[in-house]
Amino acid sequence: SRLVGAVADREDDAVEAALRPKSLAEFIGQHRVREQLDLVLKAARQREATADHILLSGAPGLGKTTLAMIVASEMAAPIRITSGPAIQHAGDLAAILSSLQEGEVLFLDEIHRMSRPAEEMLYMAMEDFRVDVIVGKGPGATAIPLELPPFTLVGATTRAGLLPPPLRDRFGFTAHMDFYESGDLEQVVHRSAGLLDVAVDPAGAAEIAGRSRGTPRIANRLLRRVRDYAQVRADGAVTSDIAAKALDVYEVDARGLDRLDRAVLSALLKLFGGGPVGLGTLSVAVGEERETVEEVAEPFLVREGLLARTPRGRIATPAAWTHLGLVPPQAQAN
Ligand code: ATP
Repeated sequence: SRLVGAVADREDDAVEAALRPKSLAEFIGQHRVREQLDLVLKAARQREATADHILLSGAPGLGKTTLAMIVASEMAAPIRITSGPAIQHAGDLAAILSSLQEGEVLFLDEIHRMSRPAEEMLYMAMEDFRVDVIVGKGPGATAIPLELPPFTLVGATTRAGLLPPPLRDRFGFTAHMDFYESGDLEQVVHRSAGLLDVAVDPAGAAEIAGRSRGTPRIANRLLRRVRDYAQVRADGAVTSDIAAKALDVYEVDARGLDRLDRAVLSALLKLFGGGPVGLGTLSVAVGEERETVEEVAEPFLVREGLLARTPRGRIATPAAWTHLGLVPPQAQAN
């Protein structure tokens, strides 16, 4: 099943890349971020300068990679893509930095997961366009300074608060990306449907958008699954009825909760009586990594008013009990 999953993921990745907007004008929603970024890039272009370093923060799938690519294309610059976890040693970063071209965009995804020494090297590279390459060990070690061409670092993180302040402060512009309004998501669905050559009526697009948890990547993924269903079980056209039936098959409920979301809520309610329970315990109970629960499921559940994060742990709201069709303990007692 792992292999099948990998093949499916590859098809999905290719489709996802094809669906990426290529310019700011094509980028849907996030009006404030778009306006701010447009100013930053236009001003840099007018000055014939390299754009300031840019930090993008927001939940997965909101378009951070897409925006980084747009920064490069708007600046007519090449882009290099890497990620925090891929940079284990400062030397890995030095190798990348020293091979950048002038004006190049370096996209560093999950920048908060970089190693400490690499982070410190990055401070200097961002500020002075210089790195110290350490040669040798112990008392004989020497630092050889290396000049770098000016470049634009685009860092992405799920939460800006995860970055140490000295790193955060070195970005000239921080864009906070929010979940998308349903109208914007409907536009994403229509745009992608056009590119994939699928007929989707407005109610069908609204049904998909409503179950996409404010996230374009999810909207695109659900659209592809609905397309499969429409093709196999109907005449290929996507209506709200077809979309709803298809998404029921894929266990995405009317509110957009998927299996993981429901697993988290259900553990919280059934195993821990609605909490409070610590994140670590809750993650073990659903058999997922802490990070996945904290960064993928929880932001959506919190935004939906189904779960609250408190200093004592996670607690379920009354709406969570209702959503899963359960009765809260207090109500049972009465
Ligand atoms: P991660 O941090 O998990 O890598 P991300 O925030 O970088 O996620 P992207 O990979 O940029 O997300 O976007 C996911 C998909 O959503 C892309 O395929 C892209 O087509 C689509 N998408 C994202 N933002 C928009 C947008 N504003 N308009 C249209 N499509 C979008």
